[in-house]
Amino acid sequence: MANTVTKKQFIEDYQNEIQSLFAEDVNKASVANQYHALAQLVKRYSNRQWTSSIKKYDIDKQKQVYYFSIEFLPGRYLKPNLLNMNFLEMVREGLQDLGLDLDVIAEQEPDQGLGNGGLGRLASDFMDSMPSIGLAAHGNGIRYRYGLFRQVFVDGYQSELPDDWLRNGNDWEIRREDHAVVVRFGGNVYLQQTESGHMEPVYENSEDILAVPYDNAMIGAGELETNNLRLWSAELPHSVDNEYVTPEVRSRVKAICRDLYPDDSTYDGRILRLRQEYFFSSAGIQSIVRHFLDHHDDITELPKYVAVHINDTHPTLVIPELMRILVDDMGIDWEKAWDITTHTMTYTNHTLLAEALETWPIDAIKTEIPRIYQIIDEINRRFFMEMQGKFDDNLITSIAPIGDGSIRMAYLAVIGSSSVNGVAPLHSDLLQKDVLKGLYAISPEKFNNKTNGIALRRYVHEANEPLAKLIDSKLGKVWRDQPMAIDGLTAYADDDQFLQELAKVKQANKRAFAKFIDDKLDIQINTDAIFDVQIKRLHAYKRQVLHLFYIITEYHRIKANPKADFTPRVHIFGAKAAPSYYYAKSVIKVINEVANMINNDPEVGDKLKVVFIPNYSVSIAEKIIPAADISEQISTAGKEASGTSNMKLMANGALLAATLDGANIDIIKAAGRENEYVFGLTTAEVYKYYENNDYSAQAEYDRNPELQRVLNSLIDGSIPNIQSEGWDIHDSMLRDNDQYFVLADYADYVKTQDQISHDYLDKKAWTKKSLANIAASGAFSSDYTVARYADEIWHAPYAKDLQLLDK
Ligand SMILES: *Cc1c(COP(=O)(O)O)cnc(C)c1O
Repeated sequence: MANTVTKKQFIEDYQNEIQSLFAEDVNKASVANQYHALAQLVKRYSNRQWTSSIKKYDIDKQKQVYYFSIEFLPGRYLKPNLLNMNFLEMVREGLQDLGLDLDVIAEQEPDQGLGNGGLGRLASDFMDSMPSIGLAAHGNGIRYRYGLFRQVFVDGYQSELPDDWLRNGNDWEIRREDHAVVVRFGGNVYLQQTESGHMEPVYENSEDILAVPYDNAMIGAGELETNNLRLWSAELPHSVDNEYVTPEVRSRVKAICRDLYPDDSTYDGRILRLRQEYFFSSAGIQSIVRHFLDHHDDITELPKYVAVHINDTHPTLVIPELMRILVDDMGIDWEKAWDITTHTMTYTNHTLLAEALETWPIDAIKTEIPRIYQIIDEINRRFFMEMQGKFDDNLITSIAPIGDGSIRMAYLAVIGSSSVNGVAPLHSDLLQKDVLKGLYAISPEKFNNKTNGIALRRYVHEANEPLAKLIDSKLGKVWRDQPMAIDGLTAYADDDQFLQELAKVKQANKRAFAKFIDDKLDIQINTDAIFDVQIKRLHAYKRQVLHLFYIITEYHRIKANPKADFTPRVHIFGAKAAPSYYYAKSVIKVINEVANMINNDPEVGDKLKVVFIPNYSVSIAEKIIPAADISEQISTAGKEASGTSNMKLMANGALLAATLDGANIDIIKAAGRENEYVFGLTTAEVYKYYENNDYSAQAEYDRNPELQRVLNSLIDGSIPNIQSEGWDIHDSMLRDNDQYFVLADYADYVKTQDQISHDYLDKKAWTKKSLANIAASGAFSSDYTVARYADEIWHAPYAKDLQLLDK
């Protein structure tokens, strides 16, 4: 039952909340305390629905999904929670009556430091959608003490400061020490026969760590249901007499949940990361089994009532951990246990980069989690037994869970699961043809696609209220409830009045963003310019350098011909580089110095500006996206699994400048190619270069004088204040033969960008394209994505009738 609270009641409750928490009157309290009290009050309101959802799921024995992810990226909760509780307007007005501004108070909330980028944000989008469609699906992760890092620029270089996001506590969480479990690491383990003839593991000198859950309410839209995001924290067990614990032992325990791993695409084999992975996998599975046995008698029925989802490979150890509990703790036969396990587990792959496929040295697993190693070894042995004779020995060896001295997490995840999905059609196709080809050969029935989606509630309803209200004025509120209904906007494609209103909304958002940039960075930008946005992690395959090369090209043109007509542009970047990713940091430095050069050149003036916003995050994304005209999605074809910023930007009316990669392809299909700007090599062309090994970056350079000027400018001193960083980029292009085909795509990209500059001048035609993107965005709601997971992967029911779900 959704809450109803009147404004009058809210004002009274809020005054009491501040009084009881801080012994102050509302207007005397600091903005920080105004925030804390508001969050506490919202939590109090929402707890009623939370308790009732939990009870209902148990009484109805509704199938429960547990979504394991080593990252979540929730951003802020205050406004999205108010939105989902239908309290946003009421609270805004109530605060106004008290002389307060909700948006000012909301700025006090730190973004939660639980994730790196797209992977974590997808998990949080799902956390929003699952209770919103009435699906009993809960998150399982790690409560990191420190987030990724706070990015600042010092002399144009990225510098990393600690992201101490928990410094002032987290108002949304509930510590549940009474639900803690023990996770066991290290020591020796051997098997001993019990009296009943059953083999039982005996542990010696193991390191026992207490996993304490912190629960966070995931409030569905209209409070249809409220689910749980359970984040685990590592502590010393109570049984350990703290006086005898050395500081070393204490810090080993603390280290597990201290830092988020700073890289979301490559791995350097740090043992701590392995300990994190086993820690939350084990704690989560133990608590799931315990809860299941509280409400059910027969563990063989687990797959009927529980689905465990492995979001990327980091939680893959849930597979051997469930086997351990079933076989060791519950005395179930291996075959039966394996049957239960594989029918409970499902897995999503998120990458096409071979170097990002996670593996662990055998020795690391043997030392850190010896019993789990024995179980993986047995899974491996039985895998060979089962496959031999049916398939070629070379094939079996190439896809076994153990090989090349390593545990291959993706292979273990596929073998131990009933479903394996990619995250966009192209990605799922390439998994079958390339990345997981051998596994597809032995179990094609497991493979499927589930295209990513986004929480439109956050990125449109909440972050772009002016647009949401304009859509309401034409369609009513149905599109908020049934996202596909937003395609009703296509009826207004030739309505001049509506197009003008839509353009006005964009213009107002651009002004708000310009003010933010002026306040924060003291850069003044022209709101009549094209706002050209590239926001995502800094990675070579995402090709921020291609965008940079176009900026340098524009600059050269202005300098060569200052009087010529020029459609003004503001290039907007947001991107963190992994601290150890040398090349990515060089790219940041060069973009920042090019920005300095351009932004301070009087001859350039208002025509061109480059803004690199430090510390890109969910809350900053919410400020940039409503103001964007162009969405840069320019990864090398065949490298970006899906992308989700492409969806966020289209839903806010930005047009794609894009390669045919990931979900760009699906966006182009949905909105119409004539409403986007598509360029570059196709995946087939890229693969052809791989096959024939005949790509020559030098040849691309030799045939294009404009490109030569760009590359030369990196090394001839014309960009002030760069050192070797220009050479790093230059070398990656010409000496190392341009691994990501930047030079191959340059000419077509420039041509496409020039077309954009031309087309932007026809305001009405442009706005029409923008409208087409908004009208096509409903299909990318994560409400549909999780409904498809529920229908086709988890076989779990949900209450909402998504009338326009197209499977
Ligand atoms: C959406 C989002 C991402 C993912 O962006 P992609 O362009 O899909 O890689 C990364 N970080 C943040 C903060 C986001 O909101």
